[in-house]
Amino acid sequence: MVDLEEMQLARGRYRIVMMNCGYVESSRTSWLIFSTFGDDERFDTAAQAVVELALDLHAKYEEEYMDVGYQSDCCKRERAASAAAKFCPQCGTRMSSLEFDSACFMDFVAGLHNTTCDSYGDSEANAKREFAFWPWRAEELLGASRDEVVFIAENAERVVYDALCEVKPELRDDDVVDGDEWRSSAWMEVRRRGSNGT
Ligand SMILES: [Zn+2]
Repeated sequence: MVDLEEMQLARGRYRIVMMNCGYVESSRTSWLIFSTFGDDERFDTAAQAVVELALDLHAKYEEEYMDVGYQSDCCKRERAASAAAKFCPQCGTRMSSLEFDSACFMDFVAGLHNTTCDSYGDSEANAKREFAFWPWRAEELLGASRDEVVFIAENAERVVYDALCEVKPELRDDDVVDGDEWRSSAWMEVRRRGSNGT
């Protein structure tokens, strides 16, 4: 497991992730730019930076897609009456958490290209996690040197998923990735970048 506390304190070099989802013809024409909250919040390796971003996005995904969101009185009454109910018979709201779905998670990451400030939601923390990265910080990018930036040219949704599976192997779906050789070449490339930026 990654020691999150140690990583938060680390003063490495990487503080920005600039990435593009999709592949070849489906590559996005815009970029997703995430930066840490402060100049002194940095990661020693590119892989650590991307793992932290993956954990941020996983926490957002869980809250948005997996968690029960019901609040209505009818749902609460039905929950009290039946712990096994999956949907509220009064209003139809889903009442049970969903399982993690790898393809859905990657769609969620790729869909960030289409979000607004409003639909993106919490950008500093949610109920699950204090985020390491803050979205769309173009001004941070303009002030950064090249070796502070983790640059993922394409297929970023898969790279983020691979990074997540690195620290949460229970989420890895062998129907989506390929057995022992599950790591994508793009994620292997990020892993190879050392603390000296090479
Ligand atoms: Zn209801």
